[in-house]
Amino acid sequence: MHELSIAMAVVEQVDDALRERGAERVPVRSLTLRVGELSGVVPEALDFSFGVAAEGTVLADARLLIETVEGRARCGSCGRDTATGMPPDLWCGPCSRAMNLTGGRELEIARVVLDDVRPDDAGERHGDDDAPGVTGAQADAAADAPARDKEASHVPHR
Ligand SMILES: [Zn+2]
Repeated sequence: MHELSIAMAVVEQVDDALRERGAERVPVRSLTLRVGELSGVVPEALDFSFGVAAEGTVLADARLLIETVEGRARCGSCGRDTATGMPPDLWCGPCSRAMNLTGGRELEIARVVLDDVRPDDAGERHGDDDAPGVTGAQADAAADAPARDKEASHVPHR
């Protein structure tokens, strides 16, 4: 299941990012993902899978927010930049040639909002006590996120 692999990779990325900041025990309040309409990801399935993947992690109570990014293409000949629509139309009529896809395949972690907790609860490590938001962290890290089998063992899935 495509979306479950993605959800697990996303959870792992966020977990890693928080760990780097010594905030691995701070509950995540919300997580915003930018999902291209051409990425092949079904938002409903991703939402469901996220609930499964987040179970037992600091993301367990996080709200998943999905921002859809429209598909866009540019013509290398005339420079026409247009939405591809769905299903995508990548043909520049005036030039009679194929356009290059410039957007719509995104799969990025756009924003992570942490719960407000006392600094003492934030873990053993020091620093970042004043950083409730990990905005933009690992923005590209989840792009085309493949399943990482090594992390699959502790996540219930079929
Ligand atoms: Zn053109």
